[in-house]
Amino acid sequence: MTDTRLSDGLSPLRTRATRPRRAIWVVVLVVAVTLVGILASVPRIERLYLRQAGAEDAATLRLATQVLRGALERTEALPALIAERPILHQLLADPENDGLVPFTNEMLRQAALSLEVSDIYVMDVDGRTVASSNYRSDTSFMGRVFDFRPYFTDALGAGLGRFHALGTTSGQRGYFFAAPVIDNTQIVGVVAVKLNLDGFEEAWAESVANIMVTDVNNVVFLSDRADWHFRTVAPLPEAALEQIATTRQYPTDRLRPLSMRNEVLDPDLGFGLDLADVGGESFVSQTALIAAAGWRVSILTPTGPSTQQAWTTALLLSLVVVMAGLVVAAILGRRARLIERLAAEQSLAALLEARVTERTAALKSEVEERRATEERLRTTQKELVQAGKLAALGSMSAALSHEFNQPLAAVKSYAENAGTFLDRNNPEEARANITRISGLADRMASISKHLRNFARRPQDKTGPVPLKSVISDALDLMQPRLKQVEVTFDSPVEEVWARGGPVRLQQVVVNLLGNALDAMERHEAARIEINLKGGDAPEIAVRDVGPGLSDAALDQAFDPFFTTKDPGQGLGLGLSISYNIVRDFGGQLSASNHPEGGAVFRITLEPATPAPTEVAAQ
Ligand code: ADP
Repeated sequence: MTDTRLSDGLSPLRTRATRPRRAIWVVVLVVAVTLVGILASVPRIERLYLRQAGAEDAATLRLATQVLRGALERTEALPALIAERPILHQLLADPENDGLVPFTNEMLRQAALSLEVSDIYVMDVDGRTVASSNYRSDTSFMGRVFDFRPYFTDALGAGLGRFHALGTTSGQRGYFFAAPVIDNTQIVGVVAVKLNLDGFEEAWAESVANIMVTDVNNVVFLSDRADWHFRTVAPLPEAALEQIATTRQYPTDRLRPLSMRNEVLDPDLGFGLDLADVGGESFVSQTALIAAAGWRVSILTPTGPSTQQAWTTALLLSLVVVMAGLVVAAILGRRARLIERLAAEQSLAALLEARVTERTAALKSEVEERRATEERLRTTQKELVQAGKLAALGSMSAALSHEFNQPLAAVKSYAENAGTFLDRNNPEEARANITRISGLADRMASISKHLRNFARRPQDKTGPVPLKSVISDALDLMQPRLKQVEVTFDSPVEEVWARGGPVRLQQVVVNLLGNALDAMERHEAARIEINLKGGDAPEIAVRDVGPGLSDAALDQAFDPFFTTKDPGQGLGLGLSISYNIVRDFGGQLSASNHPEGGAVFRITLEPATPAPTEVAAQ
C-alpha cells in the first residue's frame, strides 16, 4: 500500500521532469529547421545585398553617363564653329601654301589644347588631311586620307558627321565629329574633331564596378576592363561586320564574342536591375543610354562581395540561432535537473513519511498492547493484593484464633464467676465480671471490624488519607501479634494527610509490621519503631531491630515471590504488592538497613489537602 502511494505521489513530478527533456528536443528541432530555413533563404538574402549594391552603383552609372554625354555634346558643336574660320577657306583654296599650312597647324594645335580635345584636323574634299593639330607628332595626320571614314562622307553629304572608332593612326579610341567647310555655297573641305575616349576608362577603373559601353552593333567600345575591348556581346550581323571592315572602325580580328546572359534581378524595382553573366563572371548590371551616340552604358557590379555578405549574414544568423538554442536548451536542462532533484527529494520525503506513518502505527499498536498489558497487570495485581491479604489473614489465623479463644475463655470464666457471685449474692462482683465480659466483647468486635475492612476489595479511588489514623488502625489490627514486642509510634501532633487509599495503605503498614515481627521472631528485646513525618513529603518509616535485610533481599525484596521464609510461611508477595500499591498512590516504598541494625522500610507519599468534611470526621 505504501508503495502504491509512493508511486502515485511521484508520477506527476516524473512526467513534469520529462517535459523539459522533450522541450530540449523540440528546441533542437526548431534550431535545425531554422538553420535549414536560413540556408534556404541565402539566395534571397543575396538578392537583397545585390539590390543594395546595385542601388549604390546606380549613382556611379548616372555620373559616368553624364560625363560622357556632356563631353560628346560639348565637342559636337566644335567642328562647325572651327569650319567658319576664313583661314581654312584660304588654306583649302591653296593647300600647299608654305605660309598658311604651318600657321593653320599651330592655330589648330592651340585650339585643341584649349578645347581639351585630342585632335582637330582639316581635310580637302578628297579626304586628304591638309592641316592638323598633331602636325608635330610622329603619328601626325598630315597628308593622310580619311575618305573611308563615315564622319567624312557624312559631313560632305549631310553637314554633320559623327563616328567613333579606334584611331587608325593613333591606336586610341576616339569619337569623331566633322563639319563641312563651306566657301560661299560650295563645300571645300571638312573639319574633324577627335575626342579621345581612353581617358574616361581611367576614371572608371577607380570603382569596384566595371563599366562597359556598347555600340549599336553590341561591340564593347569602351570599358575599364581592357580584356572586354571590341568584344561582341551579341552575334554580329554580316552587314555590320562588312561595314566595320570598310570604315575601319575596329580591328576586325579583335571582334570576338563575349558571352553575356541577362536575367531580371528584381522586376518590382523601379530601375532595371539585371543579373548578368559576362564571360563566366557574375554581375549585377544596370544600363543607361546615350541616344545621340547610340551607346549603351552598363555598370556591372561583381556579385562576389554580395554573395559573401549573404553567407556571412546567414552564418551570423545561424550562430545566433544556435546560441539561442543552446541557451534555451541549457535553461531547460537545468529545469529538468531541478525537477528531477525535487522529485528525488519528494520521493525521499514520501519514503520518510511512509516510514514515520508505519512506525507511528507500530508504536500505536505497541502502546495499545502495553496499555492492555498494564490493564492485565493491574487486574492481576488486584487479584494478587486480594490473594496477599487472604494469605496474610491465613498467616494471622493462628494468632487470631488465639486472640479470639483467649477472650472467649476469659468470657466463659468471667460468666461462670458472675454466676457464682450471683449465687453467693454478691452482685457487685458479678457486675464487675459482666463489665469485663462486655469489654472483651467490644475488643473482639473491634478485631472483627478491622478484619472485615482488610479483607474488603479496595476501591481504585485515591484521595486524602489521614496517616495517623491509618497507622493506629493497622496497629490495632496487629495488636494480637504485637503484644510480645515493644512498639513506639512517633508522630506530629497534627494529623498528616497524604494521597492514597486508606484500606490499601493500612494493608501496606500491616504487611511491614508483619514482616518486622517475622524478622524478630526469636529476638530477645524485639522493638518496632514507627515514625510519621508530615510536610511536603509525608513519610512513614517502620524500623525493626531484627537481623536486617540480606544482600539478596536488599536487591530483590520487592520482586514478586522473593522470600527467604520457609515454605508455607511466606509467599514472597507482600512487599511486591505493597510496592505497587504505594506507586499507585504516586509515592515510593524503599528498604534499607539501619546503621544500628535492623531493617527500615519507608513509605513516601504525596501530600494532600483534605476536604473540610473529612477533617471533621476525624
Ligand atoms: P514474605 O514475607 O512472604 O517472604 P515479603 O515480600 O513480605 O514476602 O518479603 C520478602 C522477603 O523480604 C522476606 O522473605 C525477607 O527475606 C525479607 N524481609 C522483609 N521484611 C524484612 C525485615 N523487616 N527484616 C529482614 N528481612 C525482611
